[in-house]
Amino acid sequence: MPPSEPRAGGPNDDGPRLRPALTAVAGVLLTLAAVGLAATLVVRPLTAGSEPNAATPGVGALREDAGFTVWERNDDGTPVRWDPCTPIEVMWSPVAAPPGAAADLREALDRLRAASGLDLQLAGTTDERPSGSRPPYQPERYGDRWAPVLVAWADPAQPGLPLRDTDRGVAVPVAVGAEGDRTYVTGQVILNGTRDDLRSGFGDRADAWGATLVHELLHVLGLGHVDDPTQLMHRFPGSGAVELGDGDLAGIAAVGAELGCREVPTAGPVRVQDPPPAPGHGVP
Ligand SMILES: [Zn+2]
Repeated sequence: MPPSEPRAGGPNDDGPRLRPALTAVAGVLLTLAAVGLAATLVVRPLTAGSEPNAATPGVGALREDAGFTVWERNDDGTPVRWDPCTPIEVMWSPVAAPPGAAADLREALDRLRAASGLDLQLAGTTDERPSGSRPPYQPERYGDRWAPVLVAWADPAQPGLPLRDTDRGVAVPVAVGAEGDRTYVTGQVILNGTRDDLRSGFGDRADAWGATLVHELLHVLGLGHVDDPTQLMHRFPGSGAVELGDGDLAGIAAVGAELGCREVPTAGPVRVQDPPPAPGHGVP
């Protein structure tokens, strides 16, 4: 029984008008394959600027009618999603975090909990730092369970991070389970700690950390980018109120609590394998 993990590129990349060289996503799709009680983690990184949909043609395709995309779909056609009957713990690293980080994260989770019905919980701080090869299972730090979602600010210059200096952030959702029947169990949101042009709060999508947190956390919940600039899941932050759009809400419903419980694969060690090369993809 194989599991899978995706890495979603940061939503709030800067808009092309502000930073023409900025690409949309630094994404990675991870696939876990269980071996006995353990699991094999197959990491399939997408090249910088590539889109998850390009790596999995026909899967998670943009549904123009509904206004959202998903990273992956299971064989039954439903989006890969979290188990809504298990709390989703989020922990954050205060290292390199900007002022107001805790309040912004709490507000972002409150908004997403209300919209999705998922039991998103802010469980406090951790001494863990983000990594490009983060183990989904860390019993020495978190006990015998899947690691919590990690939210952390970091310097893009840190070796191995899937974060570019022009990014506001990047998301790495991780799913496990049998091929075609995967469930998200952990993930990372890595924010760019060198972006001094951004500020705390939810004032305006143009410069609010709150907008980036909501965007990246929606990636962790399973959503991809859309072409509609009025949605928070647009690849560029744009400007205006930090509010979920109709497409965002439709996507949240598709990965939220409405579809009922999922069986969560038992937590255990995973092994990371080299991924196959991802196809190139155009940069907006
Ligand atoms: Zn994004």
